[in-house]
Amino acid sequence: MFIHINEVLYVFREPQCPLSSETDGEHSVNFDSPCASTSSVHNRNEEALGQETVKTETVRGLKRKSLHGNSFSPMQRFFKRHLSVTLLCEQSWCEMKTVYSLLKPFVKRREMQRAEVQIGKEIHLSREKEIQDVVPVDILTREDAEAIKLLNMLHMIPLLEAGERVREFPVFGVLEGVFVLGVIDELMYNQKGELVLNELKTRKQNSLPSSAQDKVNCFQVGLYKLLFDGLVRGEVKKDHVLNHLKLRSGQVLGAGVQAHAKSIGVQVTTFEELVDALLITVSCSDLPCIDLLQIEYYHQGSSGPIGTRVAPFDEAQLRAELQGYLAYWTGQREPKGVDIEEAWKCRSCLYKQTCDWTKNRLQVSDQQAAHASS
Ligand code: SF4
Repeated sequence: MFIHINEVLYVFREPQCPLSSETDGEHSVNFDSPCASTSSVHNRNEEALGQETVKTETVRGLKRKSLHGNSFSPMQRFFKRHLSVTLLCEQSWCEMKTVYSLLKPFVKRREMQRAEVQIGKEIHLSREKEIQDVVPVDILTREDAEAIKLLNMLHMIPLLEAGERVREFPVFGVLEGVFVLGVIDELMYNQKGELVLNELKTRKQNSLPSSAQDKVNCFQVGLYKLLFDGLVRGEVKKDHVLNHLKLRSGQVLGAGVQAHAKSIGVQVTTFEELVDALLITVSCSDLPCIDLLQIEYYHQGSSGPIGTRVAPFDEAQLRAELQGYLAYWTGQREPKGVDIEEAWKCRSCLYKQTCDWTKNRLQVSDQQAAHASS
């Protein structure tokens, strides 16, 4: 059994753009949190996104220079309390594109309607339903919405401990000073007794991805491992959740949320009690850190496997890469576009007509050519 906000799947997810023609559960829908199917819940689920949309429209009104010079960090300018794994992966493809997708959310929304994105979403949903039922739960507050994720985790932890496969497992924690959220596609034990993280990527092409795409995918699963391992090691503290997400510790959970908590054996009244219950349960569980990271590529057209890739994990390298990306969000540097060697990414980019980075790059090339010929 898996709980959802009414008929909505996975409350946790956040917006993201597909990096290429590849999609996964998160990437296919471009949201870490799927949309609600009922209007009231839809509004609730879209609240955070809607809030960002309205406010970034305001940011857009501050003219293009607000992309660069501003006394507020991008975290503050875009009203972000946290970042998602999805957004960081998008950034690792092209940081400029990530910024434009926040400034022009309507372009991003159009992108999400593409057939392959929708097909990827359906494949993920059907996989998820193979092992999990959907239980609608009404929510009233932001704390209720977050509580759903924690209850889903509390429900899945004992299943995983018992050796069962679980899907859509939320993870979160503070990485390099920033609160990061994500959702792991699948966790299971292999025959060697190793805990395996499996990330499903559906592809329009019946081939393995480019090395650039593969790099992003490896970064994604690496971040999931950092977050999951931090939870089972007890490194995530209640204050991290309450303070970074600005949630009210004493908020009484809605009746629907409390009732569902009770039905899975969790007696809680307030949000703080639920956070305590989750953090104690996960850190005192038998769950080990993740042993193996794998990425499963699946062809949309033939509904068949393309191949499975074991992702390397180098924590020092991963953290260094992450620090580089977070330096933008915390206002330590300007946003960057792709390097000249990766200019091919611009060809299919939705923002290529307006991208300042490419315009500047073309100007520099023209100047260099003029200089060389004079
Ligand atoms: S045009 Fe190129 S540099 Fe600009 S946002 Fe797109 S991919 Fe990035």
